[in-house]
Amino acid sequence: MTTPRADHQPDPAKGAAVKAADRAHVFHSWSAQELIEPLAVAGAQGSYFWDYDGNTYLDFSSGLVNANIGYQHPKVVAAIQEQAGRMTTFAPAYAIDVRAEAARLVAERTPGDLDKIFFTNGGAEAVENAVRMARLHTGRPKVLSAYRSYHGATSGAINLTGDPRRWPSDTASAGVVHFWGPYPYRSPFHSDSPEQECERALSHLADLIAFEGPQSIAAIILETVVGTAGVLVPPEGYLAGVRALCDRYGIVFVLDEVMAGFGRTGRWFAADHWDVVPDLMTFAKGVNSGYVPLGGVAISAEIAATFATRPYPGGLTYSGHPLACASAVATINAMREERIVENAADLGERVIGPALREIADRHPSVGEVRGMGVFWALDLVRSKETREPLVPYNPSAADNAPMGAFAAACKKNGLWPFVNMNRTHVVPPCTITEAEAKEGLAILDEALTTADGFTV
Ligand code: PMP
Repeated sequence: MTTPRADHQPDPAKGAAVKAADRAHVFHSWSAQELIEPLAVAGAQGSYFWDYDGNTYLDFSSGLVNANIGYQHPKVVAAIQEQAGRMTTFAPAYAIDVRAEAARLVAERTPGDLDKIFFTNGGAEAVENAVRMARLHTGRPKVLSAYRSYHGATSGAINLTGDPRRWPSDTASAGVVHFWGPYPYRSPFHSDSPEQECERALSHLADLIAFEGPQSIAAIILETVVGTAGVLVPPEGYLAGVRALCDRYGIVFVLDEVMAGFGRTGRWFAADHWDVVPDLMTFAKGVNSGYVPLGGVAISAEIAATFATRPYPGGLTYSGHPLACASAVATINAMREERIVENAADLGERVIGPALREIADRHPSVGEVRGMGVFWALDLVRSKETREPLVPYNPSAADNAPMGAFAAACKKNGLWPFVNMNRTHVVPPCTITEAEAKEGLAILDEALTTADGFTV
């Protein structure tokens, strides 16, 4: 049990009423509706949120890895309020000041000539539109995506997704072909070093392109740093190698920066770490920390030119919604003024990375630490020697007991973790302070003794 915030009085009766109404009427994502008991959240501020029973949690998940600027940032809240007083909604066909300004601010930060912005309501819609643009631009049908990936849950994006969330919705959708990206710790290529992993992953992709037929491939889509499927930082040279393959065959290179973008890796975009410029880049989440739903596609000059005199056959009622755009303008300006991206880089390098590596040395359950900025994962194992994951791939509820016990130990001490399969991701807001990061890392450290109990 943690102490409630001074400005928040517990109200268990209201909490119970919220839970009852939720159970009666809210249909939740990714869940067996009767087997879940969602936490009733009363409020959130900065890096913390709290329930109605007096428990406060430090959020090492940033919601769904989106609250990069923390909760209730006063400048962003004020911008939404100001915009609501002026213009709450207007159709996408019109030029609106905040929409133009949000597009300008995003384009100013995206690499290369990705200077045109198509706004969506979130990440999956961004992926859908990026794929449509690539297919229309090339006149080709196929899209290649990685097995270890997540690209969204709409019908097209879920088929591109490689992780098991695809399986129940898999319609073997025409034209999607999966490949293995690099993962040195559990190499699909049995390589011994990141350099060898990079070389073999690129050679595998080149073979796959050759046998699928380059003339049939519209796009390769990749998460710059793979997020939900494990915080996989690409080895040096991999992204440049994929870029070169795309250039050789006229394939559109799409980088999905929905999770990695807007400060999470300690740069505005993860692509900036490797100086790689894709043809299309998807974003969402951190663009406005999810204060109002927003995502988009940043489009290169060449692809934008395809639709210069030929209409783009796609649109959304809420594309570039004024409230969402106002919140993006305020978020980007605040991130710049308050050096929030720099904070993520500094804490990652100086505090979080070293602490996690030290934790890994002491805990038999931690096989590998991966990440950068405020984007980290601990890969938990039954044995450091065999690297067998602490829970099997796509675990059943029973299989998942070790991760469940670990998560419960975190929550009991006031830390909200992000747990996925055999990993716990450390993905706090980019605004987290050094003291908060250390508080969370200490709780994580203690909770890992629970996971250690399941090692062999
Ligand atoms: N791409 C990536 C890399 C993501 O992490 C996500 C969401 N976790 C999506 C796409 C889908 O975004 P949304 O949930 O906003 O549709």
